[in-house]
Amino acid sequence: MRTPRETPEITLVGAGLAGSLLAIFLARRGYRVTLLERRLDPRKLSTATAAGRSINLALANRGITALGEVGVMESVRSAMIPMAGRMLHDEEGRLRLIPYGNKPHEVIYSVSRAGLNTLLLDAAESIGRVAIRFGCTVCGVDFADRQVRFLAGEDPEPQTTPYDVLIGTDGSASAVRAAILERTGGRLAEEPLGHGYKELSIPAAAGGRFRMERGALHIWPRGEYMLIALPNVDGSFTVTLFLPNQGDESFPALTTTEAVYALFERRFADAIPLMPRLGEEFFENPTGHLETIRCEPWSFEDHALVLGDAAHAIVPFHGQGMNAAFEDCSAFDQCLGNPDRPWSEIFTQFEKRRRPNTDAIADMALENYVEMRSTVREPKFQLKKDLSFRLEERHPGRFIPRYSMVMFHTIPYAEAKRRGAIQEEILEELTSRAASLDEVDLARADRLIAKRLGEAR
Ligand SMILES: Cc1cc2nc3c(=O)[nH]c(=O)nc-3n(C[C@H](O)[C@H](O)[C@H](O)COP(=O)(O)OP(=O)(O)OC[C@H]3O[C@@H](n4cnc5c(N)ncnc54)[C@H](O)[C@@H]3O)c2cc1C
Repeated sequence: MRTPRETPEITLVGAGLAGSLLAIFLARRGYRVTLLERRLDPRKLSTATAAGRSINLALANRGITALGEVGVMESVRSAMIPMAGRMLHDEEGRLRLIPYGNKPHEVIYSVSRAGLNTLLLDAAESIGRVAIRFGCTVCGVDFADRQVRFLAGEDPEPQTTPYDVLIGTDGSASAVRAAILERTGGRLAEEPLGHGYKELSIPAAAGGRFRMERGALHIWPRGEYMLIALPNVDGSFTVTLFLPNQGDESFPALTTTEAVYALFERRFADAIPLMPRLGEEFFENPTGHLETIRCEPWSFEDHALVLGDAAHAIVPFHGQGMNAAFEDCSAFDQCLGNPDRPWSEIFTQFEKRRRPNTDAIADMALENYVEMRSTVREPKFQLKKDLSFRLEERHPGRFIPRYSMVMFHTIPYAEAKRRGAIQEEILEELTSRAASLDEVDLARADRLIAKRLGEAR
C-alpha cells in the first residue's frame, strides 16, 4: 500500500471550489497536482456563460478558516459583502431585519462564485506545482491499471492518463464517486427535495447603487416556498426563487409570462418594480434541481477518494455546501500530517471524521428550508431567537444558538446538531407559556442549562 511520502503527484477531478482549494493545500505540502476540469477556463469566459449554478454564495466562518489556512483571505476579503441578518419582506411589503448573530462580527458574507473560483485557480497556479487541464470530462476510472478515462474537447474517443492517487472533487454528479461505488459495491442515497430553484436578478440602480439594503440576505418567506436575494459588489442582487416541482404554485405551472407575473403580484409584489427583466429571465434561465446525496464509502483502497459535493451534496438552505467542502479540504490536509501511513488509512480516517458531520449539516440544511420559508414569520421564532441571544450572554461558551454554532464557529456540525436539539428543548420549555422575553423565567433557564449542557467544544 503506498503512502503520501511515496506519492509525488496527485490527480484531482474537478477544478470547482473544492478542487481549486484542495490543489492549494496539496501543492503547499509539496505535491505536484494535476486538475482535470470539464469546463473551459472560467477566467477566459464571461460570467453570463457560467449561469445555471448560483452566482453568489454565502461564505461563513468554516470557509473563511480554511481559506485563511492557505493564506488567500487577504485577496478574498475585498470581494466580500457582509450580511448582518435576514431582511424579511412580508406580503404587504413591510421589512423586518432579524440579525444572524449576537455580536458585531457575527455576519455572513456574499461572495461571487466565479470570482472566488478564479482567485483560487490563480492562487493554485502561482505555487508552480499545479497543472490545470480544462475541457477534460472524466468518464471512468480503470482501477486495475491506475488510469483515468476522459473526453477532451470535441474528440469522441476517450483518452487516458495515469494517476498515483485520484481525488474526485467533481461535484454532485461525480464520475469518480460512480467509479468508487461500482468497484466497491457501495451505497448511494439520492433524496430529491421536491422543490427546484431559478436564478433571477435585481440590477443596480444608477451609479451602481443598491436598490435594497445591501447588508442583509433578503427573504420573502411564503410558507410553502420563498424568494431570496443576495447582494453583489456591482450593486445588483442575485435573486433565487424556490418553488415546488408540482402543484398549482410550482415551476411546471408557470408556463407563461402572465402566470409568472400573476404569482409575483400575488406573493412578491414589492419585488416586481425591482426586477425589470423578470419575464425574460424566468424563461431564459434554467430551473435547477435540488437534492441531498449521501454515499458510502468515499474511497477505494489507496486509489481514490471523493470530497465536497461529490461525497455529500446538500440543499442550499444553510449556505453551507461550499463551507463544508472547504472544511473537508482543511480536514483532509490535517489527515495528511503523517506521510508514512498508507493512503487507505488516511482516506478511512478522513471519512470517519467527516461523515457524521456532513450527515448532520445535510439534515440541518433541510430543516433550515422550513425555517427560512415559514417559521421565521412566527412571533415565537423571534421570541426564541431573542431568548437564545440572552442565554448566550448569560452562559458564554455553553449556550450558543445553533445557527451561530454552524455559521460563526467551527464546532463540528454533528456536535452543533446534538447541542442544538437540547437547546431547542430548553427554548421550547421556557417559551411554552411566555409571550415576551420579560415573561421568561431566567432562573429556570440557568438551571436547565447547567443540568443539560456542558461547555461547547
Ligand atoms: C442555488 C445554490 C445556492 C448555494 N448557495 C450556497 C451558499 O450560499 N453557501 C455555500 O456554502 N454553499 C452554497 N451552495 C452549495 C455550493 O454551491 C456547493 O456545495 C459547492 O459548489 C461544492 O463545491 P465542489 O467543488 O464540491 O463542487 P462544484 O462546485 O460543483 O465543482 C465541481 C467541479 O467539477 C467539475 N466536473 C464535474 N464533473 C466533472 C467530470 N466528469 N470531469 C471533470 N470535471 C468535472 C465541474 O465542472 C466543477 O467545476 C449552493 C448551491 C446551490 C445549488
